[in-house]
Amino acid sequence: MKVVIIGVGGVGTVVAHKCAQHPEVFSEIVLASRTLSKCEAVAKAIGKPNVSCDTVDADDVEQVVALFERHKPKMVINVALPYQDLTIMDACLRCGVNYLDTANYEPRDEAHFEYSWQWAYRERFEKAGLTAILGCGFDPGVSGVFTAYAAKHHFSEMHTLDIVDCNAGNHGKAFATNFNPEINIREITQRGRYYKDGKWISTEPLEYHMPLTYPNIGERESYILYHEELESLVLNYPSIRRARFWMTFGQEYLTHLRVIQNIGMARIDEVDYKGVKIVPLQFLKAVLPDPQDLGQNYHGETSIGCRIAGLDKEGKPLTYYIYNNCSHEEAFRETGMQAVSYTTGVPAMCGAMMFLTGKWATPGVHNVEEFDPDPFLAAVAANGLPWHEVMQPDLEVDRLDL
Ligand code: NDP
Repeated sequence: MKVVIIGVGGVGTVVAHKCAQHPEVFSEIVLASRTLSKCEAVAKAIGKPNVSCDTVDADDVEQVVALFERHKPKMVINVALPYQDLTIMDACLRCGVNYLDTANYEPRDEAHFEYSWQWAYRERFEKAGLTAILGCGFDPGVSGVFTAYAAKHHFSEMHTLDIVDCNAGNHGKAFATNFNPEINIREITQRGRYYKDGKWISTEPLEYHMPLTYPNIGERESYILYHEELESLVLNYPSIRRARFWMTFGQEYLTHLRVIQNIGMARIDEVDYKGVKIVPLQFLKAVLPDPQDLGQNYHGETSIGCRIAGLDKEGKPLTYYIYNNCSHEEAFRETGMQAVSYTTGVPAMCGAMMFLTGKWATPGVHNVEEFDPDPFLAAVAANGLPWHEVMQPDLEVDRLDL
């Protein structure tokens, strides 16, 4: 079955490598982005005859429609930027193509994370008999499926959910982001938000933090920020009373980030520079290290998981931790990319595989936790991201009493 992959950055490169390892599912693979040479470089590195290249500016629905008409794919894997989600979904409806992405739609002029724009397509996808799978990277993605797995196998009621994301890798650069710098800095510099007793509580950016202990890594200072999967998870699991997302940052990273903000380089509005309109954050992206080039000297591991408390199937108190650790070196050896791209690209391929093999094929627009977690997590483990469970651990997170 034919797939089109839009975007061949760090994540797209991993998705392409991983799809090419499964010709029994992905019989033909088309790589498409604005820059043909980038697609060709990835296709050459993969070196398989069923991988071809094309160009598209996915901001333009007509160009995406033309791309789909040329190739007639069964599914598109959208690993371009969140700005293109809606144009690609529109083209899917016009051409009868199924859809998967790894990040929710964001308007360019406002760093605002919510699913409403994409959930508004539910009825149209359902009526067209098409499936859209939203947020199928690691977080969002595996984080939601881990939660669904916990609910299916271990809990009768989940009360607290803490998604913990640690990157304990070292790339040797003074400052670099692990995925698209513009998207990454927009996310981190936003006000934080967490869910408690039916309400969203807003925080200053990175206001709350404490050290958490990560398997095989140790203690790392971890900060509460808003992350998009919380929105669907608290709706799909209404017994959750508190839901938070934590991410680790080093002091050096935070100092650079503070300076970037203080000097106005994180601005997303246009400024006039010698008669040319530029967006400072987009200009900054042009001078920062490309996340795709970090892999070569990247050492250490990522560790991402869910820490959940509630009642087990018999109604007794249970704490539970499910996580994956991924080595930057091993990810690089296999795909030429670092672990952040790898941990996003593998689940995106697995989500597409679930759809194409009929396991996650309900028409409509769905978040990943709405599907059966078992076949997906088996595929994720078999494709480079083994995961582990700990029963009754000390979750640590309650020491920050929010
Ligand atoms: P990169 O910046 O490395 O790559 C983005 C790619 O999209 C490039 O190939 C670029 O191609 C292409 N692109 C950008 N604009 C357009 C356009 N208008 N039309 C066609 N192609 C376009 O980003 P990453 O690979 O780091 O991230 C990709 C996505 O993955 C992002 O949406 C990010 O938010 C998401 N992500 C999700 C994670 C998760 O766990 N869920 C974690 C990390 C990332 P070109 O330059 O040639 O135009």
